[in-house]
Amino acid sequence: MNPASEILFTIFPSRCVLCNRPTDGLVCNDCLSKLPSRFFRCRICGRPVPVKNSICSNCLEEKSRFFRRGFTIFNYNNENVKKLIEFIKFYEMPQLINIMDKYSKLLKTIPLKSACIIPVPMHKKDIRMRGYNQAVLIAKKLKQIIGFNICFDCVEKIKQTKHQVGLTAKERKTNLKGAFRLLKLPRQQTILIVDDVFTTGSTVNEIAKLFYKENMECYFFSLAATPMAN
Ligand SMILES: [Zn+2]
Ligand SMILES: [Zn+2]
Repeated sequence: MNPASEILFTIFPSRCVLCNRPTDGLVCNDCLSKLPSRFFRCRICGRPVPVKNSICSNCLEEKSRFFRRGFTIFNYNNENVKKLIEFIKFYEMPQLINIMDKYSKLLKTIPLKSACIIPVPMHKKDIRMRGYNQAVLIAKKLKQIIGFNICFDCVEKIKQTKHQVGLTAKERKTNLKGAFRLLKLPRQQTILIVDDVFTTGSTVNEIAKLFYKENMECYFFSLAATPMAN
């Protein structure tokens, strides 16, 4: 636990980090049961869609998609999901990642026999500032649940990019162009890229492109995904 989260724990002992009511764990059962994980999913990227068995507008419009499918647990369009991800991102609360255990049944439905898990890398300067990469925390938990190998140094982020928040889909793509570099190939032919939030998909797509060029198949997993109206 980093110092910031330690302080948080000292200030709020035994209180739910979401609703602040007393609880044994970090998140109370009431808040846990209300996290949105049941929704119709886009047949390609897995993001929430309003109609069953449909494809989101983003997937329909994307002409050069380099990943095959995506999987996600939460709908990001929810205050508590946003808070949870913020806690994981900025306070390194590894215990919060354990919430994924509650969704192990769902995670085990990811239809892959074997794959190499690749957490979306951060630029080394950004890691130095934050102290850790939240995608690595999520990837390690996913490995624990579904049992695939992880490669931490197959992909490197070589460009320090602007924050994606607030950028249009087109700006995101330009921002990320050439941001990643392939350092080595894993033994597995299938790749499972792991990130915290899936929005336009430009980060995942940029990394998937590297493996696609090597004739490998890419999938991704994100803790949450933003919905898109069809
Ligand atoms: Zn609560
Ligand atoms: Zn989609």
